[in-house]
Amino acid sequence: MNPLPRLTDLSRAEFQAWAEKQGERPFRGDQIWRWLHGRGTMDPDAMSDLPPGVRAKLKEAFVWQSPPLRWSIDEGSTTEKLFTQIEGTDGVESVLIMEGDRTTACISSQLGCPVACRFCASGLLGLKRNLSSGEIVEQFHEIRRRAQSLGRRVSNIVVMGMGEPLLNYQAVVEALDVINHKEGGGIGARHLVISTVGLKKGIERLVQDKRQFTLAFSLHAPTDALRQELIPFPGALSIQELIDAAKLYLEVKGREVTFEYVLLDGVNAGPKEASELVRVLRGVRGTINLIPYNENPGLPFKRPSPESVDRFTDQLRRGGLRVSVRKRKGHKILAACGQLRLQATHGGPISAPSSSV
Ligand code: SAH
Repeated sequence: MNPLPRLTDLSRAEFQAWAEKQGERPFRGDQIWRWLHGRGTMDPDAMSDLPPGVRAKLKEAFVWQSPPLRWSIDEGSTTEKLFTQIEGTDGVESVLIMEGDRTTACISSQLGCPVACRFCASGLLGLKRNLSSGEIVEQFHEIRRRAQSLGRRVSNIVVMGMGEPLLNYQAVVEALDVINHKEGGGIGARHLVISTVGLKKGIERLVQDKRQFTLAFSLHAPTDALRQELIPFPGALSIQELIDAAKLYLEVKGREVTFEYVLLDGVNAGPKEASELVRVLRGVRGTINLIPYNENPGLPFKRPSPESVDRFTDQLRRGGLRVSVRKRKGHKILAACGQLRLQATHGGPISAPSSSV
């Protein structure tokens, strides 16, 4: 372990305090923070409005080197995958998705995932550890830099990479605060989406929190029995508890929650499940976002045919539900939902057909 603190883990107040300790005025701390998070500068010598003495002290006091990273790019695709090496061969994956005017950064909150949904690659090796707020923010920095080089500005953040964000609550909200701050990432809170299987304590905290994040709940089944089979995590809320939490969030924040539903052929995507789902969600405000399964090597689940997806969608709509269907993005480079995983499972730092930049 490196004994020096990681630069991006310090809050603005901590930088101010650090500046004062060096005999400087607190605004020097603000300057450093703005260089780091407003511009993503990871080089003290580039912080041109700081006196040379402060720059020299900064260099000594913190870990500066950015972790090694690589991009996987599927030629002609609108999706690119970032791999940031954090420990040994392990690291986090994040995704840049470009669609029309919208530029989305999909970021990870944990190294691995303890929830281990049966169909998802991210939990195959369990949880290695939580990411720090700085490690989460740095994913945004790199994606922003890459997007800028392509002439785009990141407009949306989805915490839908590896990990269950509510099990790393503090670091996730600290990172999102930086991304949200007008002198940091400058992205409005409503464009910051947290996706969760639904955990009691985390949701209570979100409801009480003054922040206005957008929430997505991973529902995936119309009955608790099937949901527990797919998400065998003891702390996950029941379907009724999720619905109640969505209602409460709407009441308190004025924000509708989205329900995500991965479509697994022969498991939860037939006419029976569709009619059960209509019954369960009738009268609940919010959109149901269907995600046709992205297949994972080594996992038995299959993506339903486009016709079955259409039939399921129509049945929900006829039942009065508001439905959107997530387009598949990045599956050729294993960057689609649920395909991000700890690298140790396939040996090398980048597994898919890729070109690096
Ligand atoms: N841990 C968070 C974020 C997961 S990624 C959560 O569980 O909500 C965002 C969505 O993609 C979740 O609903 C997740 O269940 C779903 N997902 C996971 N694996 C998938 C796969 N292989 N294909 C499609 N969607 C998947």
